[in-house]
Amino acid sequence: MSEHDNCPCGTGLVWLVCCGGYLLNKRVALTAVSLMRSRYTAYTLKDEAYLLATWHVSTRPSVLNLAEDDARWLGLKVLHDELVDDRHATVEFVARYKIAGCAYRLHETSRFVLENGCWFYVDGEVR
Ligand SMILES: [Zn+2]
Repeated sequence: MSEHDNCPCGTGLVWLVCCGGYLLNKRVALTAVSLMRSRYTAYTLKDEAYLLATWHVSTRPSVLNLAEDDARWLGLKVLHDELVDDRHATVEFVARYKIAGCAYRLHETSRFVLENGCWFYVDGEVR
């Protein structure tokens, strides 16, 4: 990914000023929705370390094995984001992807928690 490429998360911003800053550990996501977008981008780049680092310890898997995942991510649309209270937020989104030429869409509401100034992904409910 070149720093001037458009960010995969679909904001229309270039990679470095969008999710790139988070994935390269230059900035911390200040909102649940920006963390969610950066995690989508991490899936497109198979950045397993970033995904695990932003996954809450209570639900974090030990490995993801993204190298064996054939999904090709096509786009993200954030439908709704909501601050539940000052430490909890939800983000509803649709992510489109293809596996072996077949198109799929993932419609999920993800839950996030703020701890020590950092947002973490907790879990998601598929719609
Ligand atoms: Zn982005």
